[in-house]
Amino acid sequence: MPFHRVVGIFGGTFDPFHMAHLRMAQAYQSEACLTELRLVPAGAPYHRGGAVASPEDRLAMVRLGVADVPGMTVDDRELHRRGATFTVDTLAEIRAEIGPTVPLWFLIGGDSLLQLDHWHHWRQLFSLAHLAVAVRPGSDTLPLPPAVETEWRTRLKPRAQNDVASGTILRLTLPPLDLSASAVRDAVGSRQPISHLVPPPIASYIQNHGLYLHTPSQGTGCNS
Ligand code: ATP
Repeated sequence: MPFHRVVGIFGGTFDPFHMAHLRMAQAYQSEACLTELRLVPAGAPYHRGGAVASPEDRLAMVRLGVADVPGMTVDDRELHRRGATFTVDTLAEIRAEIGPTVPLWFLIGGDSLLQLDHWHHWRQLFSLAHLAVAVRPGSDTLPLPPAVETEWRTRLKPRAQNDVASGTILRLTLPPLDLSASAVRDAVGSRQPISHLVPPPIASYIQNHGLYLHTPSQGTGCNS
């Protein structure tokens, strides 16, 4: 049987890379039938606040998180880009590198899907790649913006469509995972254990580099 290359991209601030990111990446790899998955730490995401850890620390942590996972690599191109980071630019660059016929995917969580129509040139994303979506607790019951809902209805497929290079949507069957990078930062800031929240080498990195110790709590506001 001929080898069919299928490339997947997973971009994020990864501040830090956590267990839900890892579980999503694994489900994405198997459900979209990826032959290679590149994790792409974001440079300066324009549509959200700045990262807490430095780009070097975020990159080092993603590398540690996937070092032993077959088929996953880290692509640091967005960290070298000047100015705002746009997913559409990253996908266009990678599309130019792999050629027009190789299936290309990108992955987002359900919370990002709710904001997709605010992304730079968002409709162009579908001419460059397929979209995989991981359900996220709290966002799966909210209505999609009408323009995104239209794309969802027309492009959603029950299985990965790797006989075409781009343009479909796949909803991962992965159960919702209630974990966020902010929860990890909050746990460190309030001196709680994080060994169950991030891969072990990342927990050690955070501790050894003293990251997130002064993160203000996003909790209940009841701290004394
Ligand atoms: P923060 O808490 O700082 O907002 P985060 O946990 O959302 O961070 P990001 O690096 O911003 O982490 O996430 C990268 C991508 O992964 C985004 O598309 C986001 O929607 C998705 N994602 C992160 N955590 C989850 C989760 N638990 N379930 C589904 N998607 C997730």
